[in-house]
Amino acid sequence: MYILVINCGSSSLKADVIDTINKKTVIELDAERLPLTPIIQINNESVAYNNKLELDAILLFCLEQIKQRLEGKIIEGIGHRVVHGGDYYSQPILIDAVVEQAIEELCALAPLHNPANLLGIRKAQEVFEGVHNIAVFDTAFHQTLPNRAKQYAIDKELIKKYNIKRYGFHGTSHKYIAERVGTYLKQDIKHLRIVSCHLGNGASACAIEFGRSIETSMGMTPMEGLVMGTRSGDIDAGIVSFLQNKENWSTQQTEDFLNKKSGLAGLSGLSNDMRDILQKASEGNEDARTAIQVFTHRLTKYIGAYAALMGGIDVLVFTGGIGENSVEIRNRVCQRLDFLGITLDDDKNKSTKLTNEKDVSNISDENARVKILAIKTDEQFAIALEAQKIVLEKNKVNCIPKIPIAISARHVHLCRETLDILYGKDYELTPYKPLSQPGQYAANETVTIIGPRNKIENVRILGPLRSKDQVEISKTDEFFLGVDAPVRESGNTAGSPGIIIEGKNGTTTIKEGVIVAWRHIHMHPTDAAIFGVQDQDVVSVDVDDKERPLTFKNVLIRVSDKFKLEMHIDTDEGNAAEIKTGEEGYLMKTEKVVSLNMKNV
Ligand code: AMP
Repeated sequence: MYILVINCGSSSLKADVIDTINKKTVIELDAERLPLTPIIQINNESVAYNNKLELDAILLFCLEQIKQRLEGKIIEGIGHRVVHGGDYYSQPILIDAVVEQAIEELCALAPLHNPANLLGIRKAQEVFEGVHNIAVFDTAFHQTLPNRAKQYAIDKELIKKYNIKRYGFHGTSHKYIAERVGTYLKQDIKHLRIVSCHLGNGASACAIEFGRSIETSMGMTPMEGLVMGTRSGDIDAGIVSFLQNKENWSTQQTEDFLNKKSGLAGLSGLSNDMRDILQKASEGNEDARTAIQVFTHRLTKYIGAYAALMGGIDVLVFTGGIGENSVEIRNRVCQRLDFLGITLDDDKNKSTKLTNEKDVSNISDENARVKILAIKTDEQFAIALEAQKIVLEKNKVNCIPKIPIAISARHVHLCRETLDILYGKDYELTPYKPLSQPGQYAANETVTIIGPRNKIENVRILGPLRSKDQVEISKTDEFFLGVDAPVRESGNTAGSPGIIIEGKNGTTTIKEGVIVAWRHIHMHPTDAAIFGVQDQDVVSVDVDDKERPLTFKNVLIRVSDKFKLEMHIDTDEGNAAEIKTGEEGYLMKTEKVVSLNMKNV
């Protein structure tokens, strides 16, 4: 399948025709210094442009040039990199009028990027009439950030009024990296804690816990976090007002200072290019040395912090121009991380040369607990794959069966040893009533769960027994008990908090197992085939035949031949949505914006 991938910025355009089956770029267009002094190259050959020096006209020209070179190849989809998807999109989406409107409204949050992205979409629609356009959002992968990571500690009314929160960027790259780690290590990323460091001219780190982004260094804008080519990254907000006062800067001047004149360029006074800075540092330039030290210090700090948040780290990845190529930066960053099990093999690090064919290099010491990988990221290819997925699936879902919804009350699953302690040796649970999932039942037996703050009595045990203990509670329970439970898929309890459980005959403390269940849909493989989804897909579910229609986003698909079609939400979610067990929802092909209320932004 041929997919055209368009990354349209305000001063540059990258447009590639990608053969997704053979992972080959068949036409590559790069245009820079737009619109006033355009330099256009197609397949590394310069192309003359003698028309109006306006972005519109240049984009049309470039896309026409691609069209003329297709030689009979059919473009089946056009994937667009769109920087900001706000709160609306946690997945790529087929572009229609509503999506266009949403991207337009989100220009307020990404004034440097979304307007140009939108222009690219509109010009592609003009040149490639009738071809599906798909938006792939930089922010989408980070929609899974827990609230505590998304929130800035500022006035909540202003947060609401302007949608101020940490959205994170580089999501397409971090997601691609996580998946590449999985295929390279032949391990399911659901069992890995990955820190991905995308170090290019823009730079960000991402903590990927069991496949989901749970923290990332960029925030509401791509300015927060690591030291970048020309961006400051983290800075005391007090400095901003201080400088505005002292230098009499306008908002625009302040923005330019932080976005374009800071980072490596600001610190070194030389260049935003790490290659130049490394060279000058080796020649004795003190400013270049400082720039390198601040860059690596900040990154090491983030890696340590992310390891702390995930309760450990299994894989550390370096990617982006600097991460893929700089032996020295990788070495400096890892230097003091031995205590986490991050130990570099100097020879492997030195000899790493990533290419399209050898896109991953394992540079960790063979005895190191943590795998350190240098991986060549490929955002264009990742966008092509996402677009292809939507093209292939566009006719499959959005149709047919409704999904019954059930409310899951708090409950516990126990293992043999724990039940022995709570109810006596070899005690057998007695079924109270069968549950909808075949073979499962609610038992007559209950326990009391005791947290640091409060206890909850009469929590039902669900049978049959499992290999490990799991306590599923709601967010309200979490705060009532005083524990800090992560939102997780059932069975995935690693690193979750423990709790005291009291039974009829005894009491025990489980070391881990308290989770808030990730809302999910159980499906038999036959259902999955009908809906055109797979195990672990994340979808949206619409419940629209209500007085107040609503959409549940971020719903996990779980497929097994032991499952029966049913969506599970917890009591908090059920109460908030005014849903009772037995109501039904529709699976959405991709997320749709139900209402746009960002006019104030
Ligand atoms: P990207 O934005 O991912 O294309 O990365 C661009 C940045 O990668 C450039 O600004 C350089 O600073 C950096 N880079 C590329 N090659 C090297 C290298 N061999 N050593 C250090 N930095 C490099």
